[in-house]
This record gives sequence, structure tokens and C-alpha cells, in this order.
Amino acid sequence: MMAEEKGTFRSGYVSIIGAPNVGKSTLLNCIIGEKVSIISPKPQTTRNRITGIYNGESCQIIFIDTPGIHEARDMFNSALVSTAISAIEDVDVICFMVEPNEKPGKLDMFILEEVLSKVSTPSILVINKIDTLKNKALLLPIIDIYKDKHPFEAIIPISALLGDGVRELVDSIARLLSEGPKYFPEDYVTDLPERFLVAELIREQVFNLTHEEVPYSVFVIVDSFQKNSEKNLVSIDATINVEKESQKGIIIGKNGRMIKEIGKNARKDIERLLGVPVYLNLYVRVKEKWRRNISVLNELGFKVPRPKK
Ligand code: GDP
Ligand code: MG
Repeated sequence: MMAEEKGTFRSGYVSIIGAPNVGKSTLLNCIIGEKVSIISPKPQTTRNRITGIYNGESCQIIFIDTPGIHEARDMFNSALVSTAISAIEDVDVICFMVEPNEKPGKLDMFILEEVLSKVSTPSILVINKIDTLKNKALLLPIIDIYKDKHPFEAIIPISALLGDGVRELVDSIARLLSEGPKYFPEDYVTDLPERFLVAELIREQVFNLTHEEVPYSVFVIVDSFQKNSEKNLVSIDATINVEKESQKGIIIGKNGRMIKEIGKNARKDIERLLGVPVYLNLYVRVKEKWRRNISVLNELGFKVPRPKK
């Protein structure tokens, strides 16, 4: 089990970074065992910092799942980069996740050069999706390449999907943490407000059910969240914001079929999350060019750098 000395309680903050789709949310969910982050086969569904908490025998690890890091090609992407950098500056351990490709991708290089080299935080290289490798010997040259590029404290091959290597990863993280208190009570699953998780579950359904640019043009705001303890249910009003009229049409669908489907699926997930019956009212609104609208980005929790003159 844990490689810890008796009597020492270790705790700390850990950030999982890596290109979109490498499996960060899958790993978090595998470790925490609860649906705290959004999984989607399409990239970039985790736009905000989400923490999950692992409670071991004598350690507590608080995970921060950062947004996908992108080259700062436009304001939206540079917002993601600065959010990610600021998220990892203060953590105790960084897990940098990559796929077992022959060469690091453009984004992997970007993270090594523009992000990891800018912080002194101890880092672990996590090579995920090793279940896709027919021959495990193929890992060795990959490990060598990364070893040369950054002084990693450890290099751990895993399959977040199957859980292989995840135990070892948790152990190496725990080893890098200092003695510390239990920051959160054990029944904490996440420190995010329920409203945010609800918005994410609705957005996840938009991702599952729509295509092309539509899912990327959507953000969801929970307008009201009311607990009725007498009737033991929760009433939620939420708005799906899109960028264009045409997208609004797609979200609503023929005879309102799409919005009904989104609502039906999201309601099931929200009921599972909250553990009570839910009334969910969904609205759709066009909010033009929200990606470039700083106040909206701030509302979503991004730190947006001032545009350069
Ligand atoms: P994120 O964008 O980094 O958070 O990536 P996700 O956790 O959303 O995963 C992206 C996709 O990769 C999903 O389809 C996952 O099922 C898949 N995936 C994640 N981990 C593994 C793994 O260990 N093996 C395989 N084969 N697929 C994985
Ligand atoms: Mg994710």
C-alpha cells in the first residue's frame, strides 16, 4: 500500500496537466471514484479548475484538474493557458500526462517549454493509455525522450481507463507530499459548488448530443437552484448560452426534441449527483461572441489577461 512512515500524515495539492484528451478526467475519476469531472470523447470539456479529494490511510491528496493547455493563439486560448499556469504555480506536485506516442506532440512540447520550465514544482510524468501499446518495450524510448527534457521526480506508465499503475502513481504522489493536515473532511467529494457541477452535467449532454462547432459554442449558467426539503426535491433553472441563432435552433431541435433529450439525460445525472428528484427547466439564449467577452469569461472563473495594445 502506501509508502509512508507510520504516524506521519501527508497532504497537499496536485495538479494534473496535459493536452486535451490525454485522460486527465478519467484518471481523476479513477482515483476519486466519483463523477466529479466531465468525461467526453471530444477535447476541452473541462474549462474550469475542478478538485477531487483522495483520502488515503495516512494521506490526503487534493487534485486540481486544469483546463487543456493550448497555444495562446487567441484570447480564449491564452485565458486557458494563464488559468493553467496559475493553477499549477501553488500546487505541491504536478502530474504531467502524455500519451505513449513515439514523439511528444506540439502541445506536449509547449507544456514542457512554456509551462513546466516556468515553475519549480516537483513533477511526475504520467504516460497514460498504455493499454493501447501492443509492446510495452515501446515505452522505453518514450521515457528516454521525456527524461532528457525535464527533471521529473518519477515517470509512471498507467492506464487510467483500466486502473493499471494508478496505485503506483498515488503512492509516488504521496511520497512527494510533506507532512500536513487533513484539509477537508473525508465526506468531501469536491469543493466545487453544486451549481457549477450541475452546469457541467448539462454541458456534457450538449457535448454528447450535438456536433461540430456547436458543443464548443456553448456555456451553461444555472440561474436558480432551489432545495425544497419538505418535498425532498430540487428545482433548477438553467440557461444554455450559444453564440448564434442557428446554434439555438440546433440546441432546441425539431419540435423541441433536442432540448428535451438534453434535459432528460442531464436530469438523470443531476439526480444521481444530488441524490434527490430534480425538476430541471432549460432555456436557450444567444449571447454573441461570448468567447471574446471578458466579463463572461470572468464569470466562468477564468483569469483573462488584458489584451495587448
Ligand atoms: P482529458 O481531456 O484529458 O480530461 O481526457 P478524458 O479523461 O476526457 O479522456 C479522453 C478520452 O480518452 C476518453 O474517450 C477516455 O475514455 C479516453 N481514455 C482515457 N484514459 C484512457 C486509457 O488509459 N486508455 C484508453 N484506451 N483510453 C483512455
Ligand atoms: Mg477533462
